Amino acid sequence: MEPGKKKWRFRGNRELNSAAITVHGVMEMLMEKINKDDNRPIIPLARTDPSTFACFRTTPVAVDAVAEAVQSFEFNGYPNTVGVVSARRAIAEYLSHNLLYEISPENVYLTIGCTQAIEIIVSVLAYPGANILLPRPGYPHYETRADFSNLEVRHFDLLPEKAWEVDLDSVEALADRNTTAIFIINPGNPCGNVFTFQHLKKIAETARKLGIFVISDEVYAGQAFGSNPFVSMAEFATIVPVIILGSLSKQWVVPGWRFGWIVACDPNAILQQSGILECIKNYIDISANPPTFLQEALPQILEKTRSEFFSNILHVLREDAQICYDGIKEIGCLTCPHKPEGSMTVMVKLNLSLLEGISDDMDFCLKLAKEESVTVLPGFVVGLKNWLRITFAIDPSSLDDGLKRMKAFHERHAKKL
Ligand SMILES: *Cc1c(COP(=O)(O)O)cnc(C)c1O
Repeated sequence: MEPGKKKWRFRGNRELNSAAITVHGVMEMLMEKINKDDNRPIIPLARTDPSTFACFRTTPVAVDAVAEAVQSFEFNGYPNTVGVVSARRAIAEYLSHNLLYEISPENVYLTIGCTQAIEIIVSVLAYPGANILLPRPGYPHYETRADFSNLEVRHFDLLPEKAWEVDLDSVEALADRNTTAIFIINPGNPCGNVFTFQHLKKIAETARKLGIFVISDEVYAGQAFGSNPFVSMAEFATIVPVIILGSLSKQWVVPGWRFGWIVACDPNAILQQSGILECIKNYIDISANPPTFLQEALPQILEKTRSEFFSNILHVLREDAQICYDGIKEIGCLTCPHKPEGSMTVMVKLNLSLLEGISDDMDFCLKLAKEESVTVLPGFVVGLKNWLRITFAIDPSSLDDGLKRMKAFHERHAKKL
């Protein structure tokens, strides 16, 4: 038979090709536009990974803990699936620190970054007919994973004019008897907001009323540098069951280490009785686990990192947020409804009517990359068309440079009056 006529029986899983928008996909399109002849450095305001900047370098405490674990030769074997007990206990203690109840180490699950934590929790909730409530704007990996698991998503709005608080009326209107959970991200990516104690309490009370539980993505835990202090949703677990997602990635600025966790805050054993915790354990049984030496190093990292490390990072983030907010004010086609007070990103609104020949947020970002070697994430990726998400967590002088280039771009494309 001619080779061309042979019928092969395999093909890829087409579910994976379904128009899923990913940050990575858009990033690639932006990077392709960068002009190779531009001698200026690329200013990366699209991706949230400040680890290459000296002012965001992780603490030697973390590096030493990992090095010691590797050099001991004792942690070259497979980890047990539920995770090294000392690591689970260290996370439980670390998160219990401000609470009126104790988180049980049994309710801590170690994951490969918060990314895998998201995959696990979404998969566990994806049973036929169920739906979940996600914030808009949000973090697109939730939508992508829910799509892939055929889990229905309903979006509630975050309100820019109310410091990006949750529109709780819309939450009540969206939920029905098949709704299982509401997800929040605090401190917020993409909005850079920090929820108040009162607002978190209201979210908990709303969830209780609806008979659903709360999943709180706290990868930016502690990274609040405005007037609202960071409060963990774990504080409200006596009102409603809470699952916290976290990782080392943003707090310790080591996203390449791929280490995260799922923590069930379940003082009334409601999650346990629902069977959800057993599902999480079963999912982890059929998954890869984080490296043994990282699990082993974790207690040292959590216990020994000095508060100066975190306050230095906060100091740079606060300065960056100010530079970003002031810089945006100088750019006529952009408005920032709420000055960032947490996390590493902020949402700004694009006023297309002031620009000539720019059709939408994607077009803006592609042309900005091409002409100014600045990458910014188009808002549609995070759920808000014709907005932009700016990651301000970079070296302050580079951020200043990037905003000046955006201003020059605006002036070149501004509609002549
Ligand atoms: C970065 C980020 C994640 C992913 O965290 P990793 O630990 O790097 O996998 C999850 N959620 C939000 C909101 C993030 O910003």
